[in-house]
Amino acid sequence: MLERLRQITQEVSLASDTQQALQIVVDKVCATLGSEVASVYLADYPNQQLVLMATEGLNPKAAGVLHLSFNEGIVGLIAQREEPINLEDASSHPNFHYFPEAGEEPFKAFIGAPIIHQRKVMGVLVAQQKERRRFSEMEENFLVTLAAQLAGIIAESKRRDKLTDSSGQYHVVRKLSGFPAASGVAIGAAVVFYPPADLSGIPDKEAKSTAAELKRINKAFRLARAEIEQMKQRMQHHLAAEELSLFDAYAKVLDEKGLQRDVIREIDMGHWAPGALRRAVEQHTRIFETMEDPYFRERATDLVDLARRVLVHLEDDKTARPKLKRQAILVAEEITAGLLAELPTEKIKGMISMRGSPTSHAAILAKALGIPAVCGLDNVPINRFEGQEIILDGYKGDIFLSPNEGLRKQYQQLIKEDVLISRDLEQYNSAPALTTDGFHLPLLVNAGLIADFEKSVDVGADGVGLYRTEIPFLMREQFPGEEEQVRIYRAALEAFKGKSVTFRTLDIGGDKQLSYFPIQEDNPFLGWRGIRVTLDHPEIFLVQIRAILKASIGYSGIRISLPMIASIEEVDESLRLIDQAYYEVQSEVSPAVIKPPEVGIILEVPSAMYQIASLVNRIDFISVGSNDLAQYLLAVDRNNTRVSSLYSAYHPAVMRALHFIRQQINKNETGLYLCGEMAGDPMAAVVLLGMGYDALSMNARSIPKIKKVLAQFSLQESQTIAEQVIQLEKAKDIYDLLFHHLVTRGLGGLIRAGH
Ligand code: PEP
Ligand code: MG
Repeated sequence: MLERLRQITQEVSLASDTQQALQIVVDKVCATLGSEVASVYLADYPNQQLVLMATEGLNPKAAGVLHLSFNEGIVGLIAQREEPINLEDASSHPNFHYFPEAGEEPFKAFIGAPIIHQRKVMGVLVAQQKERRRFSEMEENFLVTLAAQLAGIIAESKRRDKLTDSSGQYHVVRKLSGFPAASGVAIGAAVVFYPPADLSGIPDKEAKSTAAELKRINKAFRLARAEIEQMKQRMQHHLAAEELSLFDAYAKVLDEKGLQRDVIREIDMGHWAPGALRRAVEQHTRIFETMEDPYFRERATDLVDLARRVLVHLEDDKTARPKLKRQAILVAEEITAGLLAELPTEKIKGMISMRGSPTSHAAILAKALGIPAVCGLDNVPINRFEGQEIILDGYKGDIFLSPNEGLRKQYQQLIKEDVLISRDLEQYNSAPALTTDGFHLPLLVNAGLIADFEKSVDVGADGVGLYRTEIPFLMREQFPGEEEQVRIYRAALEAFKGKSVTFRTLDIGGDKQLSYFPIQEDNPFLGWRGIRVTLDHPEIFLVQIRAILKASIGYSGIRISLPMIASIEEVDESLRLIDQAYYEVQSEVSPAVIKPPEVGIILEVPSAMYQIASLVNRIDFISVGSNDLAQYLLAVDRNNTRVSSLYSAYHPAVMRALHFIRQQINKNETGLYLCGEMAGDPMAAVVLLGMGYDALSMNARSIPKIKKVLAQFSLQESQTIAEQVIQLEKAKDIYDLLFHHLVTRGLGGLIRAGH
């Protein structure tokens, strides 16, 4: 059964549209259960009905025509109850009802399972048989499992249909929803950036010159064949002749009579080389993958791998690389610091990252650059965006493809309002962050890119609360050496002359991967991250601390913060290494010029909350990393789009944890800051002020906004609000309360222009 399920889902996922996918399902269900009928009904919510979409055994003409209201028949009951029904004799069931007009007979045996995706009933999968019989437990399990697997595939397939109509042309207006990653609105043409050598993401395009494409592909195949030959040579002494023959088989796949011939045929039909390669491979793999024999399925994997090698050589061809010549909306599977580093950021109007969530690093980078962004559109093939006109709403997380004039006007108005709000906020650049009763809350910046420093100085930040040192590391091809790091850190100190700068030690792992130091784990956020990596590699840690100390010569207010601290041993070991680096540097330079840095931790692992009494004896400050703290408190991966709706800084547990932390720390002895994304959220900032946090660190662009918010509240008012917040039981209630407070003070526009 498992093998059968695997085959069906694989075939379904290869279907070109939803209709074809459903037809495959019903055919396969009949074949597997030996039933006379199998049908899929899909829910049509606006009309409150279930529509027969595909059937094997009933009249095919009834597909798309026959519909039942939500409470009609046994099918309706399955949808309503959200559970399977297995009947030996359906005709004796009170809900029994049949449709002769659809070619239905009073079938006896009946089994049905709901198709549910992310808590929503998408439809019902049914099998029927004339004879009286009870479907076995195994058959029932098969249907339920298939329906559960189908739900995701159907949801994805429907999303694809939304983007392309049946003729393969793009629809007039289509809306997609992701997560708001960076506020603002952008209108522009999409430019899609494909990950290197990702075959499946390649779009179909017409070749400008068939001769040029043929030349490119022949060269790429030649290079790939040479590579295989080299691999064979290298392995000559390590493998037996029999095993070595595998390389000959590979070379054969790549030779002129194999894959290359089919690719050339596609190019001759007018396709550009990468598209032709993808098409030829798809044709082959479709055949391989549906074969029962595992040997042939393996060959499909080999073929894709070989084709990828060819693609690498095609993409090496500089002319094939996408460029950002004019202003555009950047679309990529994952927007990384590396990708941004290669592009002129002033040309990026907006960014769409298929992966990620509002606190993923793609989102953090977008906010730092002030570029509206949407992320988390998992399973939408990026090639569908190619060449499309797009409206991107970074407040709501919506994307509109090929918008009509009305919608475009509406959004142009919103952009105008945004500009007015930004202009209004400029007056706060030079103003201190004061409440109505004159309380000063220091606002610091989270930095990492050079662009951050420039912006931070413009908006009058009180210092750097979080320098993410991994960002310069992410943009290099190898670990930067001590001298290079000194130059990087000194640039930050120079930009912030006289103000404090908190350097967080290298925080890699999780979703921050260095290309030159890959960490592969099943649970990266629970794995080798932050301080865990650097304590295991004291040579990396020591060089970094030495560089920070050397860069700090001549400056004051240098702080070091340690990410992902979960235990006291980690603090002690880090302090020992920091001491060691300090004495080493001191012995190298004149002792008078180097001061010991203040050291603190990023409180982001919940275990640290319960060790505050021990921590404060050792360190100078605590900075709450609310992005990760919320992730670990709620057990919600901050990058997993399936569960992103469960991730909220307004969750009562998060709010109460922040309050608890404040209660544990003596106000005059240890500084307590917060450096997660919520610091720059106008609603959360009011609560943090009220709770008594000593400073907030946020992306530079949020600073004027937060100054404006603070200027509308007294310290006393914010304290009352914080007290109310920690009493509330639901994230939505907390959100609504704060939203109300901001809107009544005329600050709704800071949450979304137009309010
Ligand atoms: C945090 O976790 O809140 C934080 C500031 O660090 P990062 O987002 O870089 O993990
Ligand atoms: Mg963190």
